[in-house]
Amino acid sequence: MMKIGVLGLQGAVREHVRSIEACNAEAVVVKRVEQLEGLDGLIMPGGESTTMRRLIDRYGFFGPLKEFAESGKPMFGTCAGLILLARQIVGYDEPHLGVMDVIVERNSFGRQKESFEADLNIAHVGDHFNAVFIRAPHIVEAGEDVEILAKHNDRIVLARHGRFLGCSFHPELTDDHRLTAYFIEMVKESKEKAVI
Ligand code: GLN
Repeated sequence: MMKIGVLGLQGAVREHVRSIEACNAEAVVVKRVEQLEGLDGLIMPGGESTTMRRLIDRYGFFGPLKEFAESGKPMFGTCAGLILLARQIVGYDEPHLGVMDVIVERNSFGRQKESFEADLNIAHVGDHFNAVFIRAPHIVEAGEDVEILAKHNDRIVLARHGRFLGCSFHPELTDDHRLTAYFIEMVKESKEKAVI
């Protein structure tokens, strides 16, 4: 069984756990650095990226998360989690982890659209994915090794860069677990490769 961590400092943690378990994988809420040990993959949830970063620093997670990213294990950033993974954030001098080759813009769907739902067609995953966006960022630019998996109104809202997956929306808030299952598949493949 794959063991998937959810960074548990802030945000929509429980919902990811539920989704991971619905995909028959083991979920671990990661609140201490030692819990990163032994995970096969890690989800960075949605919430508020500035607050999450503050907590990452306070609890000594910054270095260990960077190491986790460099270790080759897959990471999935949803909403604020995507902002934490991105190489660059529009309007900011420094990224957070800066490991995924995308440029993101925060809160980029406008005030009237603080939260909305959209019906997405997702490459490799399927059609009619009901995506929930909450003060969502979007990907304004993606590097050449990044595969764009979904767009909404011409904006990139889901992309994969090797072992990094990032989306603008909250895939864990509905009962459609296909995107979580896709990530767990990435984790399985990466684990199998690591063994060979
Ligand atoms: N607007 C939040 C941020 O910038 C992200 C929102 C979310 O994760 N739902 O961190």
